[in-house]
Amino acid sequence: MSRSPVWHAFTQHGLGEEIPLIDRAEGATLYGADGRQWIDCISSWWVITHGHCEPRIQQAIRDQTGKLDQLIFAGWTHEPAETLARSLVEIAPAGLEHVFFSDSGSTAVEVALKMALGYWLNRGEPRHRILVLEHGYHGDTIGTMSVGERGVYNRAYQPLLFDVGTIPFPTAGAEQATLDALDVACRNEQPAAFVLEPLLLGAGGMLIYSPAVLREMRAICARHGVLFIADEVMTGWGRTGTRFACDQAGISPDIMCLSKGLTGGALPLAVTLATPAIFDAHYSADRARMFFHSSSYTANPVACAAANANLAIWREEPVLERVEQLAAMQAERLARLDGRGRISGKRQIGTITAMELADATGNYLSTLGPRLGAFFRDRGLLLRPLGNTVYVMPPYCITAGELDWIYDAIEEAAGLA
Ligand SMILES: *Cc1c(COP(=O)(O)O)cnc(C)c1O
Repeated sequence: MSRSPVWHAFTQHGLGEEIPLIDRAEGATLYGADGRQWIDCISSWWVITHGHCEPRIQQAIRDQTGKLDQLIFAGWTHEPAETLARSLVEIAPAGLEHVFFSDSGSTAVEVALKMALGYWLNRGEPRHRILVLEHGYHGDTIGTMSVGERGVYNRAYQPLLFDVGTIPFPTAGAEQATLDALDVACRNEQPAAFVLEPLLLGAGGMLIYSPAVLREMRAICARHGVLFIADEVMTGWGRTGTRFACDQAGISPDIMCLSKGLTGGALPLAVTLATPAIFDAHYSADRARMFFHSSSYTANPVACAAANANLAIWREEPVLERVEQLAAMQAERLARLDGRGRISGKRQIGTITAMELADATGNYLSTLGPRLGAFFRDRGLLLRPLGNTVYVMPPYCITAGELDWIYDAIEEAAGLA
């Protein structure tokens, strides 16, 4: 076979690592073209919530493709998007009443940042400073890299990234330092907005902090009139144990970004939800004040139909009970994990567990990560460690037997580390 022209995401082709060819997927299982099988332990990069090829979502996609495939979404509208927007407003934290569509987590965050800046400009008090939480990740475009952690993965682009104010991560025991830094920055820097991942920083290393801290950070921003942007692209749709992470803190952000599990993971779609204050700042008879953003595939009808099916599943099936059961099974497996001292930092939030395997360097490019990836791949598992951080973020349909298989392999891997 000739060499593939595909240039893969986050892949160093020079290492010659195997890139399995997958034919189909069902539930938590991936079926390879050569007959091998893998358990999808990370929900195909955090997007698949209920399971692969969920029948109700698949049916909705089939029904919609025969009716309306794509429509310009500036000045025209369609029923799947109208229904979805209404349903999202119903379940979102109170006060988020406007829904702007885009197609990925990165664009949802770009839209959030542009909304925040537009809000301040249209109020006649232009502000440009953005505050971020240390170790955050919000996407791979120039704007979202600017508000994310700087490192080897964006070093080539750093001269183009805009400057932000970084608030220290609320490490357990040092939360007050975070709150104080946020308060001082809000007071002195006239920030437009504070953008963060609520309760769990995913790509930053599966770092967890408490709902109390989230609530307090939200209160500080409210006190200073700084817009609070919750990036729930990964935490949304049950991962942390509640539908949205913000629900656990009982807070309403000014802007909230959703993507990944919005369609159950079946199709790309994203939304940025905003309060009336932000919408109204753009509402005018003056065209120059409109919100200047669009992608060609904004609110694609088939993707919206998939999302509507996902929301119907949430309404009609005991999804949160499944999430609770998965969380309990995960807790039990994590507690049993021994690893003979080579495993540290065991932690869990909702359906997600994470831990570190002992390693000399521990950064993203440490050779341990890829070695572990290959080790798991050979054992029928799709697990992709972040450096030496191994995490398990499965679809909610995963079985106890499949979890046993995963944790046995992690135990074995700890012996190699
Ligand atoms: C994955 C992720 C993004 C980016 O989403 P894409 O769809 O990959 O662009 C943004 N924010 C968070 C918290 C994420 O986990």
